[in-house]
Amino acid sequence: MNVNVAPASTTPAKTEHFDVLIVGAGISGIGGAYHLQQQCPDKSYVILEMQDTFGGTWWTHKYPGIRSDSDLHTFGYRFKPWTTAPIASADEIRKYMGEVIDENAIGPHIRYHHKVLRAEWSEAAKTWTLDVRKTETGEMVRFVGNFLWMCQGYYHHETGYTPDWPGMADFKGEIVHPQTWPENFDYTGKRVVVIGSGATAATLIPAMAPKVGHLTMLQRSPTFFRTGRNAIPLAEELRALQVDEHWIHEIVRRKILYEQAVFTRRAEEEPEKVKQELLAGVKHYLGNDFDIDKHFTPKYRPWQQRIAFIPEGDLFAGVRDGKAEVVTDHIERFTEKGILLKSGRELEADVIVTATGFNLSVLGDIEFVIDGRQLDFADTVTYRGMMFTGMPNMVWVFGYFRASWTLRADLVGDFVCRLLKHMEAKGKKSVVPALRPEDHNMQILPWIDETNFNPGYLMRGMHLLPKRGDKPDWAHTQDYWNEKDEFPKINLDDAAFVYH
Ligand SMILES: Cc1cc2nc3c(=O)[nH]c(=O)nc-3n(C[C@H](O)[C@H](O)[C@H](O)COP(=O)(O)OP(=O)(O)OC[C@H]3O[C@@H](n4cnc5c(N)ncnc54)[C@H](O)[C@@H]3O)c2cc1C
Repeated sequence: MNVNVAPASTTPAKTEHFDVLIVGAGISGIGGAYHLQQQCPDKSYVILEMQDTFGGTWWTHKYPGIRSDSDLHTFGYRFKPWTTAPIASADEIRKYMGEVIDENAIGPHIRYHHKVLRAEWSEAAKTWTLDVRKTETGEMVRFVGNFLWMCQGYYHHETGYTPDWPGMADFKGEIVHPQTWPENFDYTGKRVVVIGSGATAATLIPAMAPKVGHLTMLQRSPTFFRTGRNAIPLAEELRALQVDEHWIHEIVRRKILYEQAVFTRRAEEEPEKVKQELLAGVKHYLGNDFDIDKHFTPKYRPWQQRIAFIPEGDLFAGVRDGKAEVVTDHIERFTEKGILLKSGRELEADVIVTATGFNLSVLGDIEFVIDGRQLDFADTVTYRGMMFTGMPNMVWVFGYFRASWTLRADLVGDFVCRLLKHMEAKGKKSVVPALRPEDHNMQILPWIDETNFNPGYLMRGMHLLPKRGDKPDWAHTQDYWNEKDEFPKINLDDAAFVYH
């Protein structure tokens, strides 16, 4: 529901004007800046970032072993070759992003320590006005721009999601969330229980195992994993033949994307067969005596949740060598000494790590106002998961879950630049998506189909997200393989776009 709101009460000290305002200096925001510079070199822009440096996810997460779970040929940008092993650490990803910033002189456009609090669209002026707090001084400043490119990600960086288990306050040891990992945290010789079995737990466990006294991975239910070498033989072969790195990057991307398309199709068409193949990968490391059924055989179909890649099977090697134990059970409550399970067993611990996921953050927790009326994002319908009805001149980069996020950041980058050029050619200052007459009877549904993809943070936050329609134009289809062909062909004069 929209309500009238008073204008911002704080008086910013200073106002700056740009054609394009980008929020966030993560992989999406830096990629957006690159595309804008390349394709719309006349547009002025600024990137507003509340952290003290770039990187987003790859800067705010500092837990042991933090690494990507998808390959960097596709998680990297299409325009900058990735030249080392495909699964990369946060430091390696930031180094790569730093090179993109330096090679393209993006640095001077970024304002760090700038937290966007409020965004207001003025229909008369055809501008967005952002009220921004400088986090070091508390000073308020204002940025005015014609187009808003939201690259703020999708979850709270400050705090992760920890369920409220009974008795947590009784526990005498330390409870740590991977997202807020204490600096120099020493867990040498300690008994550690990691709750969770997603990509984060799977990364933490092999990284912590060499130093701990004892390590337990406690999961409510099992997760699918893929295993293999952290290498792409084709890339190595092409490199040995001294093929140009740009070519290698493109060829390897195509190979990976082709294989992923086949995998996704097979996961839908023959889920049982795919499941058995994934389990065989786990069995390879754990052997036939391990209870794979209980601990590593999920109830959901492969691909209903993101499948983490475990390079060299390091998670399973720890389990096989007795460094880490897997317990599949439910938590009854926390105790002074650890965790009491539904089965009656008590897991004693000095440290409990809650690798239990994110809290969804919708639009960077920014208050959005459209011409004096507060916007409820959940009242909007999305145009292809990037624009929203009633929100002029605004695009949000929400990447892929199954394929690499950045594939979509690149596609959306091209779309934004094409749209900006189109508006200029038409002499228009604003564009807003609107349902066409033929869309009015369309079914309006939640942001994502939970039978297709259902991670906890989305299920918990679905009511805050925009709606989708039952046509591909009005949904985030999560389908890179169609979008890569469809996005460049989007008819910008379609009635779904209203220009002024
Ligand atoms: C541990 C972890 C591992 C992951 N691994 C993969 C992977 O291997 N492959 C994959 O495809 N995806 C992965 N993801 C998903 C990942 O978050 C995205 O792929 C990608 O990094 C998101 O980039 P982004 O730039 O869109 O958002 P983010 O990385 O979240 O960056 C957003 C930036 O915006 C800033 N910001 C937010 N709100 C405001 C505001 N109001 N004012 C100013 N600045 C603001 C934030 O400070 C942040 O720097 C992973 C996620 C996590 C948490």
